[in-house]
Amino acid sequence: MKREKPENLMRVSFPSRSVNESLSRSLAAAFAALADPTVEELCDIKTAVSEAVTNAIVHGYRNTLGTVYITAALYPGGKIVITVRDRGCGIADVEKAREPLYTTCTTGERAGLGFAVMEELMDRVRVRSRLGEGTTVTLERKLKSRSC
Ligand code: ATP
Ligand code: MG
Repeated sequence: MKREKPENLMRVSFPSRSVNESLSRSLAAAFAALADPTVEELCDIKTAVSEAVTNAIVHGYRNTLGTVYITAALYPGGKIVITVRDRGCGIADVEKAREPLYTTCTTGERAGLGFAVMEELMDRVRVRSRLGEGTTVTLERKLKSRSC
């Protein structure tokens, strides 16, 4: 099957510093805003991207500094697909990691709800990960304002 071509595309990367969590939110919002979303859609996309980027920074590159890669694509018909990728430690058991309240954080700072939030806010969330190689989270959301 032929792959659909995006009508708009953004690729960015930045170091895994916590200041860049808010940068990623702004970038996702700026990209999505071009597609005429509702305020709710815009907020949902920003939040989901921010959860995925925070995970890349705090878990993927725990105790180390790496690069976070974001690709955002808008397809005809209004589907937005955003991938957040790290080349960090990877996830041993993705199914387990996606369970609500599951966290490997032992300090009590984290609730284990990041994936649950992404799933709640987006139409589809895919996670590909390999131990020692990194993680790619793909977030999809169809904008209702766009019918064609
Ligand atoms: P919260 O998001 O509520 O602050 P959390 O980050 O622990 O807490 P999730 O975002 O649901 O919860 O992630 C669950 C677990 O999956 C994490 O605790 C971590 O072990 C693992 N994980 C998630 N993303 C990554 C990643 N990019 N690299 C390595 N491990 C990850
Ligand atoms: Mg998280």
